[in-house]
Amino acid sequence: MAQDDLFKKLIAHAKEYGFIFQSSEIYDGLSAVYDYGQMGVELKNNIKKFWWEAMVKMNENIVGIDSAIFMHPEVWNASGHTSAFNDPLIDNKDSKKRYRADDLIEEHIQKYQAKIDKEVAKARKKFGDDFNKDQFLETNPNVLRNKAKINEIQDRLNGALESDNLDEIKQIIIDCGIACPVSGSKNWTDVRQFNLMFDTQLGSVAEGSSKIYLRPETAQGIFVNYLNVQKTGRMKIPFGIAQIGKAFRNEIVARQFIFRMREFEQMEMQFFVKPGTEMEWFEHWKDLRIKWHQAMGLPTEKYRFHKHEKLAHYANAAYDIEFEFPFGFKELEGIHSRTNFDLSQHQEFSGKKIQYFDHESGESYVPYVVETSIGLDRTFLTILSAGLKEEEVKKENGKSDTRTVLQIPPALAPIKLAVLPLVKKDGLPEKAREIINELKFDFTCQYDEKDSIGRRYRRQDAIGTPYCITIDHTTLEDNTVTIRDRDTMQQERVDINSLAQILDDKVSMKKLLKKIF
Ligand code: ATP
Repeated sequence: MAQDDLFKKLIAHAKEYGFIFQSSEIYDGLSAVYDYGQMGVELKNNIKKFWWEAMVKMNENIVGIDSAIFMHPEVWNASGHTSAFNDPLIDNKDSKKRYRADDLIEEHIQKYQAKIDKEVAKARKKFGDDFNKDQFLETNPNVLRNKAKINEIQDRLNGALESDNLDEIKQIIIDCGIACPVSGSKNWTDVRQFNLMFDTQLGSVAEGSSKIYLRPETAQGIFVNYLNVQKTGRMKIPFGIAQIGKAFRNEIVARQFIFRMREFEQMEMQFFVKPGTEMEWFEHWKDLRIKWHQAMGLPTEKYRFHKHEKLAHYANAAYDIEFEFPFGFKELEGIHSRTNFDLSQHQEFSGKKIQYFDHESGESYVPYVVETSIGLDRTFLTILSAGLKEEEVKKENGKSDTRTVLQIPPALAPIKLAVLPLVKKDGLPEKAREIINELKFDFTCQYDEKDSIGRRYRRQDAIGTPYCITIDHTTLEDNTVTIRDRDTMQQERVDINSLAQILDDKVSMKKLLKKIF
């Protein structure tokens, strides 16, 4: 399936099967805001659980918190968000479409990269086994020309962003001849800065109210609670604080479904370390986070690290984990070494001493921070986009058919077991209920008696249920059922008493965690 078609199909599928709905859909929706439906919320909760357990349960030096969305307005002055949480925006005067100016330039740069990739593919075909990619990249004149172009534009963009030079950003767009993808024209407005934070008023009377923000990231809730947690939890450095929660950003261009939303969820962990040890911990977390992703079993080639060449002024190392979404490789998670910037800022702005006293060495210091920050919704999208498949299946009469199956990691599937009585009579529904009543304490089960067995299997495939069991007349005689595997579609007759063990082997969260720890 072409990637564009796959993405459209994915969005339609997510709606049809109760994973994701547009917010306020009966009022024609609200742009870039989405609701999770009956299946979506289960999958989302399972992802959260997998992340939370991998952080808080598996590491004795990591604890969790749940801080408020509203925070004291001074927090955002200290963190730099009020002055610097901006994106440069530009409008096309003909199409009236608004863009992130840096994104337009980045996309233009990617065209040169695509040319390089094409040259490589061509050469690989020509030279076969003898092809030496590294050598080719270093010597081929076309590649070198395109590389030089990329470096030139990237350097100009980095310089302009660093020095906040909006005129220069516009000049790059003009010099590169970038046209509006909608109107095709190069009739651009000037570039302006746009702050991404949503604000609102705290307090009911106009004069007494003050402007506060909906948090644009969960991390600040962790920083301002550093002392509370360290003291009350008697935490010793190195230690981490984890949090899952909503964040809000008034994104300029919010397209691509749940990839870029205005209200979304983050899963962040800030790891506090002794200054000078941060690179060691940075490598540790980089390694552990990619293992977490790979434990889910999505294709490994869909992940890659992207090193930040241009670092924020307070950071001394930063990598993104990128995933190949249907619209290309994009950021899924950030791993950043943030020095002591955040805690020092809060120390200065709050006037409270935020330090750690190391009993062993007798020193006091402001801890350094290594953070891992991942979008929950983007993780959800990786699972849907890698899992949604259309497969040819052979029918019993020899003809072929297609089935849509969601091959998501079994431990994260919304429903673990579908229980299907072959017919709606002869005591089979009662037997099915009996089995559910036994298993429902450990596994999310669904009962379904409507339509043919084949159609019921298809419905479960479409929501990613790893196992279906069928209750037939033999069940009443010998206490066995047929169990069908979502991926192989193989059926096996097993004793009802063995079901809990079979399910547990396949769907337990422990199995995922054991791949990492
Ligand atoms: P981007 O460059 O894509 O805007 P970012 O670098 O601003 O992302 P961070 O501030 O590092 O993102 O946030 C950490 C994570 O939160 C991201 O890796 C991403 O998974 C998620 N995230 C950020 N913005 C959004 C959004 N608008 N919608 C959904 N998830 C988001």
